[in-house]
Order: sequence, then structure tokens, then C-alpha cells
Amino acid sequence: MTIPTEAAPRLLRGGPIAATIREQVAADVVEFRTEHGYVPALAVVVVGRDAPSAVYLHKILDGCGRVGIDGRLVELGDEATQAEVVAALRTLDADPVVAGIIVQMPLPPTIPLRTVIDILDPLRDIDGIHPLNAGLLSLGYEGFLPATAHAAVEILVRSGIELEGRHAVVVGRSNVVGKPAALLLLRQHATVTVCHSHTRDLASVVRTADVVVVAAGRPGLVTGDMLKPGAVVVDVGINVVGDALVGDVDFASVAPVVSAITPVPGGVGPLTNAILLSHLMRAARDQAQGLVPLGARSLAVPVQEIPS
Ligand code: NAD
Repeated sequence: MTIPTEAAPRLLRGGPIAATIREQVAADVVEFRTEHGYVPALAVVVVGRDAPSAVYLHKILDGCGRVGIDGRLVELGDEATQAEVVAALRTLDADPVVAGIIVQMPLPPTIPLRTVIDILDPLRDIDGIHPLNAGLLSLGYEGFLPATAHAAVEILVRSGIELEGRHAVVVGRSNVVGKPAALLLLRQHATVTVCHSHTRDLASVVRTADVVVVAAGRPGLVTGDMLKPGAVVVDVGINVVGDALVGDVDFASVAPVVSAITPVPGGVGPLTNAILLSHLMRAARDQAQGLVPLGARSLAVPVQEIPS
């Protein structure tokens, strides 16, 4: 049985935080252009057609337009070969104006992920898919973070949710969301448990959490009776059910139990996009200032260790 909290939960909305980030990015673009004489570009590479990712891509390109970044769509057809994907990435890599590259996932089955990772410059990998950036994250150094995981934790931090010493449960262990979100929560000094599809008795684990981040891709997976009263919930899930967009959390049963929750839509999603743009400007600045030599595959890594 769920024990209702006294007040309606606080809604952690991504929109206002995203607007603040975009404002800063727009100012950064103006400053960058004044200093370097060009506007940096973000290239979005799409191989084949995938309807949900097309919507996501257009939001990224719209986001670029809103802050003055040069957003470029590089479309390769369903029939594109590995060699063509490699050639497209090499062309982008050779263009000094292109500061960041995103390759839309999922790739068609004919194009192994390795094809992209072997070519993608980690210094332009602004969505943190390259193993070098994943390794930097796991060691506690500053690389590029996967934008969605970054957004899921940033929404907590910017909303003033206390994480230090609290028990955070992450549901999902994908390389793009669950795993990096867990590492970022550790960086915030939370005590972290990661659940996944083989976890036995998910409810009993989730019930011990002060903070729950759900990224499972299962509509309504987490329900109110699985949560500790007063817990804080971040719903990363984006699922199309009929005509509606719903999260991985059953909002109706969860809202009376928790103290704060991200809505879907309007929570993590808008923030992901703005954070990606901020990553692009960081990449552009690093490259323009020569802090990290292009093509040398070596990173200047400011030390920011996670205490063990
Ligand atoms: P994924 O399919 O790669 O990974 C899902 C994870 O959930 C896996 O680790 C799996 O073990 C776990 N899982 C699945 N069923 C489970 C269950 N019953 N109990 C416990 N764990 C379970 O998905 P992903 O790419 O990590 O995406 C997760 C969700 O986040 C999806 O809904 C996706 O659409 C959404 N997403 C949102 C954004 C955003 O900007 N908000 C961006 C990317 C993905």
C-alpha cells in the first residue's frame, strides 16, 4: 500500500534550466565568433531512417539555430556501406569548423558501432560515446559526458536536491544513460545501486532509495507502491504509447508518494538538448585554443578524482 505524502510533489521541469543554459551558450557563441571569426558547427550524422530518432535530430538542429550554432545534418541512406560512413566521418573530422559530431543511434545492423568509434575523434565526441570519454568518466576525469545521463543528474543538482550520502537507485544500465548516470551520482557522493533487467525483486531495491533515476524504456515500470514516501524521482524514459508520450514511471500512482519528480514530457528531455549545445561550445573552445591538439588523440585532463 502506498503512503501518500501530504503535499503534491514538486515538479522538476527541465525547460527553465534548459533556457538558462541556452542563454549562456548563445552568449558563448557571440563571444566565440568575435574572438575566432567563425561560428562552430555541430554535425549530426544519420545513417538510414528511424522515425523516433528523426524527431530527436530535428530538435537538436532547432536547438542549434536558437543559439546561433551552425547545425549540419549529414544524411546517409539505408544502403550506406561502412566505407561510406567512414568517409563521411573523415570529411567532418578534417573540417576545423566542425567542433562536435553526433552519430544517431541505433545504427543499421550493417554498420557495427565499432565503425563509428574507430573514426570518431574523442575531442569532438560531444555525446560521450567514445570509449576514451567513457573511461575518463569512470576514472573521475573530465571528458565528454553522454548528454542524457548528464541531464538526468544536472536536473537534480540544479534543483537543489541533496545527493551527498543519500541512496540513489538507477534502473537501467545502458552505456548511454544508466551506467553514466550512476557514475555521475557517485561523483555527487551518493551511495549508488544499479538495477537492470536481471535484478531480482526490483521493487524491494527501489523502495530503499532516496533518489531514483529510471532509464529502462518500459512504460510505467516504476509504480507508487515501489517507492519510499518522500523519494525524488527522475524519469528518463520516453515511450510512445498510442498518441501519448509517457515515461518509465507511472506518474499517477507515484505523484502522491514522492516529494519531487520530473514530468514526461518536460523533464529530462529539454535539458538533454541544451546540455548537448553546451558540450559543443566546450569542444569548440578547447579546439580553437589548442588546449587539446586536434588529431593527436591526447586529452588535457584536469584532475577531478572521485574519492574512493
Ligand atoms: P536501453 O534499452 O539501452 O537500456 C534499458 C536498460 O533498462 C537496460 O539496462 C535494461 O537492463 C534495463 N531494464 C529493462 N527492463 C527492465 C526491468 N523490467 N527492470 C529493470 N531494468 C530493466 O535504453 P536506453 O537507451 O538506456 O534508454 C532508456 C530510456 O530512456 C528509453 O525510454 C529512452 O527512450 C529514454 N531516453 C531518453 C532520453 C532523453 O533525452 N530524455 C535520451 C535517450 C534515451
